[in-house]
Amino acid sequence: MSGLAAWAADPAGSRGRRHAEPAPAFRTEYQRDRDRIVHSAAFRRLEYKTQVFVNHEGDMFRTRLTHSLEVSQIGRTIARALSVNEDLTEAICLAHDLGHTPFGHAGQDALNGCMRGYGGFEHNLQSLRVVDLLEERYAEFPGLNLTFETREGILKHCSKENAKKLGDVGERFLNGGRPGIEAQIANLADEIAYNNHDVDDGLRAGLLGVEQLAECRLFRDQLDAVRSRWPDLPERRLVHELVRRMIDYVVSDVVARTRQQLAAHAPRSIDDVRKAGTPLVGMSDETRDRHLELKRFLNRNLYQHAQVQRMTGQAADVVRDLFGLFMESPRLLPPDVQERTRAEDGAAAARARPIADYIAGMTDRFALAEHRRLAGSAKAAASAPGGERA
Ligand code: MG
Repeated sequence: MSGLAAWAADPAGSRGRRHAEPAPAFRTEYQRDRDRIVHSAAFRRLEYKTQVFVNHEGDMFRTRLTHSLEVSQIGRTIARALSVNEDLTEAICLAHDLGHTPFGHAGQDALNGCMRGYGGFEHNLQSLRVVDLLEERYAEFPGLNLTFETREGILKHCSKENAKKLGDVGERFLNGGRPGIEAQIANLADEIAYNNHDVDDGLRAGLLGVEQLAECRLFRDQLDAVRSRWPDLPERRLVHELVRRMIDYVVSDVVARTRQQLAAHAPRSIDDVRKAGTPLVGMSDETRDRHLELKRFLNRNLYQHAQVQRMTGQAADVVRDLFGLFMESPRLLPPDVQERTRAEDGAAAARARPIADYIAGMTDRFALAEHRRLAGSAKAAASAPGGERA
């Protein structure tokens, strides 16, 4: 493809799809991947899944859908600046959180806890399961049948144990390889997006204050610059001006630093990038320090905030209760999920995975509604004389 750097993913050199398909007539292979992701049910459900604030807490906060769109916007900017594949970057960014449970990290930790005896639950691996297996949309194959490069990018982390079962996309976790440039960009774009939008959401929620955030250099430098030029700027415009400047500062640094690394390593192909032994996309040491300082600040002051913890703690109980109820009484599951629990040998270990898939796919509000319905009827049945649970 013209205009792409030698180290970019070229759709003509793709390692292909798991099920062979004719080439698309009007799009590149990676555009087709992106379009399949946008048309998936899992993508639509991101609209009602928690990023940090549980979905019903307010209409102005980021959801996993708007987070994914912001990641994709940042990723595409970096990809274009570096002359690598913007379509592939976009596809990976839009798909990166498809496997997230309801209720954000609290939900994921709770489900992982439930699955401890049954192979655990990793949201990155779940995103890959969604695109490889769980989406039911095409006559000829399960999942979305995406290209190797998009799947490689979606699988950001993976335990060695799981990597062994995955074949081609698992290899790099066993042999210390790296993914292509586009996947590395998507990974960093995710961090840049949440660091910045969580500042914005934290301020909006009143859980963080401008003066408090000024202890972080990344924030303070922009605050000083904006205040000296516009001393009377109303807070809403001040906050957005700061957030956009912080994004611009970090993105500019990533582009400059990555250009240096690419010049130093001079990869001649995407495989050279995979074998480089070190990530080629990154920040300068100084910017990384500042970025991590802000990340730690958010961890202490926002993610660990009593108000956020209370919400997510309740949400974790919902996930645990649902898992327990379904494990005990699979007949509470929808027929197609029941079918999958039966397809195995009836052992609890075989029941657990389809149940985890079902719960992970729920939106926040669906999980809450199911919990109200099932936990309520379970309690009633348990207290009825001779009543069977659920
Ligand atoms: Mg994310």
